[in-house]
Amino acid sequence: MLLITRANLLTMEEERPLLYDHALFIDSSGLIADIGPSADLEARYPNVERLDVHGRWVMPGKICAHTHFYGAFARGLAVPPPPPKDFPEILRRLWWPLDQALDEEAVELSALIMLIDAIRNGTTTLIDHHASPNALEGSLDVIADAVDRAGVRAVLAYEVTDRYGPEKAQAAIQENIRFLTRLKRERPYEGRITGLFGLHASMTLSDATLRASWEAVRSSVGDDVGFHIHVAEHEEDEYDSLYKSGKRVVERLLNFGILGPRTIVAHAVHVDAREIYYLADTETWVSHQPRSNMNNGVGVAPVESLDAAKVRVVLGTDGFPHAMWEEMRTAYLLHKVAHRDPRRMDGNLIARIAFQNNAALADLLFGQSVGQLAVGAVGDVIVVDYNPPTPVTEGNWPWHIIFGMQDGMVSTTIVDGRVLMRERELLTLDEEAIMARARAKAPHVWRRYAEILAAGG
Ligand SMILES: [Zn+2]
Repeated sequence: MLLITRANLLTMEEERPLLYDHALFIDSSGLIADIGPSADLEARYPNVERLDVHGRWVMPGKICAHTHFYGAFARGLAVPPPPPKDFPEILRRLWWPLDQALDEEAVELSALIMLIDAIRNGTTTLIDHHASPNALEGSLDVIADAVDRAGVRAVLAYEVTDRYGPEKAQAAIQENIRFLTRLKRERPYEGRITGLFGLHASMTLSDATLRASWEAVRSSVGDDVGFHIHVAEHEEDEYDSLYKSGKRVVERLLNFGILGPRTIVAHAVHVDAREIYYLADTETWVSHQPRSNMNNGVGVAPVESLDAAKVRVVLGTDGFPHAMWEEMRTAYLLHKVAHRDPRRMDGNLIARIAFQNNAALADLLFGQSVGQLAVGAVGDVIVVDYNPPTPVTEGNWPWHIIFGMQDGMVSTTIVDGRVLMRERELLTLDEEAIMARARAKAPHVWRRYAEILAAGG
């Protein structure tokens, strides 16, 4: 149980987005059980552990709709020259040799590195997409155990692909099914970890593997499990799909039963109007990752068109640091310069995507209210050291986040009422020890990467 007092609450609720000098009570089940003026709640819960935040900002923990924990060892890794000229070359010369270089220890360390980053940035719910073809079986358990140690909330998936042959594709299908079945049967980790069925991308998936994936899900887990797949991140995905099927990517996936209200497609940079219609019609979620899109030079996703067509757009990081406000700020800026129009990507739209839509996705996947400060919602809360230079109002708070708040201002991170970071001190993970282990491991991962790349990927 925890009573947070003297807080300015940014609730993310439509009715009452701002509550000054309020308190928030999280009960023993980890849910928010009461919200009210500080004096009232202090009187009502006199014997509960208190966290007096002295007028700082308290918000729901941030949610990341698409990330890759496994990319942690890419930081500082040198891709041999010449520099990759486009996204397909980045995949073939960076990501695919790197995912093959991971052993089980590297999988665990990658996850821990990214989880430290998440807690420091106040990101308490993460939707991960994993690949480690040479440490495949059981890899989702390794990641789940790391998530459990960290204490955050996560949605895990293993990416099925044909790039390493039919046996690895079958093993990847089995890894998803094994993990999803375990989640359903045992409901481990107190419900803080759930899963999706991971698929890499249309361009590395044959018809047979797509069919086998769908059939495995339906026959073993049921129809309440969605997929998590990259879509049209680069034109190559569309060209490949047209070549294989005569259809564009979204239509090809639709025909294999991959789309739907529990499926997330990442990027959708190169989708056309007809594909947007199918995404809306199937209520599929589309995650936007502007920093990744800029870094890979793949283009600008038609986010406003998707939103206008009633597609549910959410925001992710794609393995960049889990600094969700930085991701929001990037989206806010990118769409303005791309269209050479400062009216594009209105602050209210990016706030709706990052907060309301991400929360609605998390609600659906966890079957609980996540991403708002309301009675009955999970007790995932961050404290922010933001001293606003101008008044924060119901009408202007998104712009305070975009222009004023930095992710590093998060001082305390709480999940299910459990404090994971207090005044910037991590309580669940030993950052010094994990980073020291990671630095010792990195040369081995990088050497293996270089060998695999030299051998032709
Ligand atoms: Zn991705």
